Amino acid sequence: MTSAIEHADVLVLGLGPAGACAAAAAARAGARVIGVDRRVAPGVPVQCAEFVPTPLGSNVAALAANVRQSIAAMRTWVGDDPPDLTAPFPGQMLDRDAFDAALVRAAREAGADCRFDVPVRRLSAEPALSAGANRPEPRAVAHLADGAILAAKVIVGADGPRSLAGRAIGCVNAALVETRQVTVPLHAAHDATDIFLAPDIPGGYGWLFPKGECAHVGAGVDPVAKSRLKAIVARLHAMLVEQGRVGSEISALTGGAIPVGGMVGPVGAIGATPVLLAGDASGLANPVTGAGIASAVQSGTLAGEAAAAIVAGDTAAATDYAEELDALFGRSLERALERRRELAQAAARGVSKSALRRGWIAYPEYWAA
Ligand SMILES: Cc1cc2nc3c(=O)[nH]c(=O)nc-3n(C[C@H](O)[C@H](O)[C@H](O)COP(=O)(O)OP(=O)(O)OC[C@H]3O[C@@H](n4cnc5c(N)ncnc54)[C@H](O)[C@@H]3O)c2cc1C
Repeated sequence: MTSAIEHADVLVLGLGPAGACAAAAAARAGARVIGVDRRVAPGVPVQCAEFVPTPLGSNVAALAANVRQSIAAMRTWVGDDPPDLTAPFPGQMLDRDAFDAALVRAAREAGADCRFDVPVRRLSAEPALSAGANRPEPRAVAHLADGAILAAKVIVGADGPRSLAGRAIGCVNAALVETRQVTVPLHAAHDATDIFLAPDIPGGYGWLFPKGECAHVGAGVDPVAKSRLKAIVARLHAMLVEQGRVGSEISALTGGAIPVGGMVGPVGAIGATPVLLAGDASGLANPVTGAGIASAVQSGTLAGEAAAAIVAGDTAAATDYAEELDALFGRSLERALERRRELAQAAARGVSKSALRRGWIAYPEYWAA
């Protein structure tokens, strides 16, 4: 390798919630951290419905300053039945761009060098001579779009559902849900997340999430139904307009993929360089609800701590990280995956209302054995 390569202890690929938390944790633990993201600014454009359940709030200072409204309950519509109320179901609607920016600020304050507008094109293994060694061994380097090269002792892959780092270590999110969401005026204050389950929203659900004077109206579906997604969201929006709940003007449109196949990785290597995956890159979004902010924050923090520990010589840190993720998320991911499988099997016969209830977190059937 030449001196043109820039070196860090920990390279964090992606600076969403998982990457920003990883960068902060690794820097706090004393590692020299470089974090890179292809976005021009943190959290922009927002690709999120912006709901987080309450338990995250006690851990993350960035949340408190960026909450737009509280959520007290969830209402679930199954087909044309009247809604079922789940209360309490506490959480917060946040400004996701400001939240992501606050997490990046915290990482910078901890000493991490966070860079934006820096797309990583490729990760590869190149021969490198490490201190004390007399023969070169393959080490990971990141090739940036502008031709620059970064090398690190550990890489944290926090680069979302279609992770480059994941692909480089052979851990790919095989199952994704596709989403579409519009933001519209909300005509009356509302403090519940509204969920719409129906056989014609396959592999997902529709939603209305209130955010002050506006609401996010959207849907997620299995990729086979992607061509119908625009019509599904338009129909839901039109229904809510007709009911007088929301306005017809659309102030924002977004979408994106959510991993729904359960955990991948989270540990691998490029050459001799350890790679830890976190957040959506590691498939930690819930396969039924699609919620992934809280698990991104938690896993990112743990990945950053583990990366710094590896740099400091802790040879068990990667395995410990994998075990911690399994302990934290394994059971809930497994249950959600099982319910997805059941719904997919039911689809062949035509999905009944009882099958939809069994597949959604509001109902005791979901939690039953
Ligand atoms: C429409 C929609 C609605 C959602 N609603 C909710 C919700 O209400 N609540 C909830 O909890 N979850 C929700 N989610 C899921 C949630 O947004 C994700 O789980 C969460 O963002 C995961 O965080 P992350 O840091 O792992 O990944 P991301 O937030 O995706 O961050 C990954 C970062 O990596 C960067 N990156 C990727 N590739 C490269 C590259 N090659 N080079 C440089 N940078 C790169 C990206 O620019 C990005 O900034 C929603 C998702 C979608 C699509």
